Amino acid sequence: MEELIQKLRKFAEERDWDQFHSPKNLVMALSVEVSEIVEHFQWLTPEQSQELSPDKLSELKDEIGDVLIYLIRLADKLGIDPINAALEKIEKNGKKYPVVRVKGKSLKYTEY
Ligand SMILES: [Mg+2]
Repeated sequence: MEELIQKLRKFAEERDWDQFHSPKNLVMALSVEVSEIVEHFQWLTPEQSQELSPDKLSELKDEIGDVLIYLIRLADKLGIDPINAALEKIEKNGKKYPVVRVKGKSLKYTEY
């Protein structure tokens, strides 16, 4: 993770793009890239979404890379460690959704 953060900082600095990387701009770019993933699945049946061609998977790989890049860059600008944030959130989710109460169910925690 640290290597990725450093590479992204260097990439932006070398191009003098840091000036454009406000949290607002980064979250907007992140949203666009997420939508580019969504676009690949728009109108597919659930079955079709599980049987993507190698070409589609290659395109999705690029978009997943874009999403991760902007998410890491956003977290960096906000001073948030994304790995730590995810680990803490899993911990919280575990308490919110105890296995004994939710196993095999897809309800939101407010509905239990
Ligand atoms: Mg993209």
